[in-house]
Amino acid sequence: MINVKERILELKKSKNALILAHYYQNMDIQEIADVVGDSFELATKAKATDADIIVLCGVRFMAESAKILNPDKKVLLPVLSAGCPMADMITADDVRKLRTSYPDAAVVCYINSSAAVKAESDICCTSSSAERIVRSLPQKRIIFIPDQNLGAYVASKVPEKELILFNGYCPIHHKVSISDVNKVKAFYPNMPILVHPECRPEVLEMADMVGSTSQIIDYALNGTGKDYIIGTEVGVVSRLRQLAPYKNFYLLSQGLFCPNMKKTALADVLFSLEQERYVIELTPAEIAGAELSLLRMIDVK
Ligand code: SF4
Repeated sequence: MINVKERILELKKSKNALILAHYYQNMDIQEIADVVGDSFELATKAKATDADIIVLCGVRFMAESAKILNPDKKVLLPVLSAGCPMADMITADDVRKLRTSYPDAAVVCYINSSAAVKAESDICCTSSSAERIVRSLPQKRIIFIPDQNLGAYVASKVPEKELILFNGYCPIHHKVSISDVNKVKAFYPNMPILVHPECRPEVLEMADMVGSTSQIIDYALNGTGKDYIIGTEVGVVSRLRQLAPYKNFYLLSQGLFCPNMKKTALADVLFSLEQERYVIELTPAEIAGAELSLLRMIDVK
């Protein structure tokens, strides 16, 4: 019987491929990856690699970011239908219309967006860098796309700026409610609640810590406490349990499961490497515009 993992590792070596996996991927995918990280970490690893092929185990916008930063490399997305509903909520045309309505504003685009949308924006950001990036811009007025919740969170942290928010949202994090938080607080009254800023503002207000995926992982691993409630996708809980089996991690809501992130199975990674599919193709204009927005993000310290 073929050992799928072994075959993947063989092909990875013979084809000089790099496998990048997001924290929200299934654990067996995280285990065969060269790098596991959040969107920002995957984008920077993709930029630094000398591999010939990059296999991105995540959703389409992540593979597009890898391609934008490495236009000469072959970037593969193992499952063609692995998309992000939030990224699909906004089009390049929407951005152009917003620019016409607010000609004096800079456009800050969350990395969870398509290459075409990034190309229409001035600068990208991640959930960990959004506040810093908004603060760094000379414009007072900022169009923040597409996540209304992350945008509202940044607006609360940078009151000197006027943020124009788009109405996009992550269906997974947006579903978390005050009642979910009240339920876990009733069961575990003294346990810290760590949440992602893609959650609604009223949920963030009830949390003990708000941070990106990597910030939540660092906080839970390095904190002196033994027990944590995790308010982001369930893959992060699996990762934490593996990294710190001596601590306890509980998921804030059972709805924190991203079906798109869970579409990739080991067999898909194997087929992807064997047949070199599905190749990410972008137009030169998309690559040029989006690269500028991503590189400006990477340059903001
Ligand atoms: S968790 Fe939300 S933002 Fe992330 S890929 Fe899934 S739908 Fe998109």
